[in-house]
Amino acid sequence: LRIAVFDDYRVGLVDEGAVRDVSHAVPEPWRGTPYAVNELIEAFDDLRERLPALAASSPPLPLAGVRLHPPLPRPRQLLAAPLNYHQHITEMSVSAHVPSGLSTQQTARELGFFIKASGSICGPADAIELPRWEGRTFHHEAELAVVIGRTARAVPRERALDHVFGYTCLVDVTMRMSEGFEEERPMRKSFHTFTPIGPHIVSSDHVADVQALAMKLWVNGELRQEASTATMIVGVAELIERASAVVTLHPGDVYATGTPEGVGPIEPGDTVRIWIDQVGEMSVPVRLRSW
Ligand code: MN
Repeated sequence: LRIAVFDDYRVGLVDEGAVRDVSHAVPEPWRGTPYAVNELIEAFDDLRERLPALAASSPPLPLAGVRLHPPLPRPRQLLAAPLNYHQHITEMSVSAHVPSGLSTQQTARELGFFIKASGSICGPADAIELPRWEGRTFHHEAELAVVIGRTARAVPRERALDHVFGYTCLVDVTMRMSEGFEEERPMRKSFHTFTPIGPHIVSSDHVADVQALAMKLWVNGELRQEASTATMIVGVAELIERASAVVTLHPGDVYATGTPEGVGPIEPGDTVRIWIDQVGEMSVPVRLRSW
């Protein structure tokens, strides 16, 4: 399944350039609210059989004619892995944007996860809006995002993928540290619109092997990032094992799995395009924030 959220927070299944409304499957009182997909995912084991028939009974709406929201507008939690690809750790260790104290020995295995504000989420029809913070640089980070399906607490890695509902594309936009500025990572990554996700959620049964997905990111058509999820340091199953030993993960929670090498600056006027094999592709413009 490919799940999209469109127009008045309707939930639809995407197929061949069209979306079919399955909002009637969303439990009341969540239908037509930003929480519709969270609740659909939570009830998915009961709904799975009904959804195809429900979709078939809805007219196909061309995707070009609807407004897409982020496929998960309001996850309860938005987790993110730092330093989860070796070559990205190497580029950061030689970057002028990183304080000299960063140890290149540290990875997501030692560091665990951090939290981005879920209010930083935006979608495929939105723009990344850069704030007016003088002298700062803002970077793109292409990432595979995991969407939690079943509540996960202290889940061993052998069973962790049973707790995954699906995947989507995510850009972890980041204000880099610089000389004299070392704000907390959660704040530098939590500005309004700094987490574009989408365009859809693809259910995990449509992804053959989550640790063998090609991923690319372009800025204005120039290829900036290209890697495979095979080179992740801590894989998806182990990320869930480790995080669920700390905090309970809920249906609809989103986990950004870290970025490979090739991060770089974005500026107003740019267009960022992310593509992940079997998962999807989206382009978002970059603007100067208007407020
Ligand atoms: Mn990141």
